[in-house]
Amino acid sequence: MGNKSKTRPSDLRFGTAGVPPSSKKADSASGVEAVAALGLSAMEVEFVYGVRIKDEIAAKVRSKAEELDIALTCHGPYYINLNSKEPKIRTASIKRILDTARAADKLGAHSITFHAAFYLKDNPAKVHRVVHDSLVRIMETLDKEDISVQVRPELTGKPSQYGDLEELLALASEIEGVWPCIDFSHYHARYAGENNSLEDFERALSRYSKVLGKKALDDLHLHVSGIAYTPKGERKHLQLKDSDMNYRDLLRALKKASAGGVLICESPDTERDALLMQRFFLRIRKYVH
Ligand SMILES: [Zn+2]
Repeated sequence: MGNKSKTRPSDLRFGTAGVPPSSKKADSASGVEAVAALGLSAMEVEFVYGVRIKDEIAAKVRSKAEELDIALTCHGPYYINLNSKEPKIRTASIKRILDTARAADKLGAHSITFHAAFYLKDNPAKVHRVVHDSLVRIMETLDKEDISVQVRPELTGKPSQYGDLEELLALASEIEGVWPCIDFSHYHARYAGENNSLEDFERALSRYSKVLGKKALDDLHLHVSGIAYTPKGERKHLQLKDSDMNYRDLLRALKKASAGGVLICESPDTERDALLMQRFFLRIRKYVH
């Protein structure tokens, strides 16, 4: 009661995956300006096809984001598999995650996310060990380099990919500086349409806070978009209006849990759905039934 309502209308920031479509130019600094002009407050810098950013460009994006109060996060390359059978690919995957964190550090981004691994034919418990050991190495390297960005393996959209909610919660409780990035659309698609009710979302958030502490809900990194799926999980991203993603109840659950942090929209028209969700979120009263 009381004092919480005096803070900002929402501690949850809404933003776009990459430069929003209304941006005049395709570079990240212009993207940050466009995000601010839309009234959003976060942007994920996409390194999905490789981590390439010059120092002076990163500095420019960083100062724009600070000036306009836009929170930045980063998405690592798709081509990562910490459980590859090829030692070369495992080493390259670790390097891609490190490079994403290094770029995030230069950008002033506070969190990075990536898809950690595929199970291939392996036992999930074994894959967990492999991902765990790689992340321990990654965190040791980042510590040495004095880089403190949050490292967040993503909840993935296919049952063939490592990264369900429980696996990520276990990783986060085992390794300091590691947290889950919860992609609620993946959470829905991974199980071919499950996890789409108010109760489901509340259960996920309460597991999160039970394992990682209630304060962890103040600083989430989330992905939400419309999504198409098959029995094999995620097929592609859609606009929310064209999908069955129950974003309204998800936002109700987040509001009820007083969630904070960053919610990134990955729908094809990122800004339209980010604004749709932000508008809906700001209208929800705290105690909904
Ligand atoms: Zn992702």
